[in-house]
Amino acid sequence: MAHPEDGNVTIGVLALQGGVEEHLRILAGLGAGTRRVRVPRDLEGLDGLVIPGGESSVIDKLARAFGVADPLRAAVDRGLPVLATCAGLIYCARELENPSPSQQTLGLLDITVRRNAFGNQRFSAERTVPVVVGDETLPIEASFIRAPLVTRVGEGVEVIATVPHEDAAEVVVGVRHGAVTALSFHPEENDEARVHAAWLAGIS
Ligand code: GLN
Repeated sequence: MAHPEDGNVTIGVLALQGGVEEHLRILAGLGAGTRRVRVPRDLEGLDGLVIPGGESSVIDKLARAFGVADPLRAAVDRGLPVLATCAGLIYCARELENPSPSQQTLGLLDITVRRNAFGNQRFSAERTVPVVVGDETLPIEASFIRAPLVTRVGEGVEVIATVPHEDAAEVVVGVRHGAVTALSFHPEENDEARVHAAWLAGIS
């Protein structure tokens, strides 16, 4: 198996729309090889895949148009590790409370998600969120940009981050199930590399 410190892992970033470059920069900074993923053959030989933020309905539409949605789902079923942020989390969910018309998701995580759930200006766009990373809980600098929240967590899905929200004392903004980790927010917008680093360490 490849090791990130050898520069031998190759991590794909789904590069159809959204914040692709920020993830590529962080992954390269951590010593991983990177590849933009747009079509099915880009998935070949990957050690992991990042699904970035952006607009989940557009990512869904393009992924289906480029024929990459089904191969991506199949690769994750075979164990391809995934790190998803914001629209990426939405795209991984099994169920959306408020999808765009005809919006589909990959259904990789048994969660229900509400899109654009932090619209209120009372919720600051940048904050420090405690995130369970490996054996530790780390204060992660996070940007929330029209961020989703997780309103239902299925069996076996681990909650790794919560924040206070107007509707409830704490709401879920980070989950993990097996090799799939998903966050409502963007550590990559703040050059915060520790979530990516821990995820990479788990791959090798
Ligand atoms: N609200 C966006 C969506 O529904 C997600 C925003 C983001 O990725 N920063 O896809």
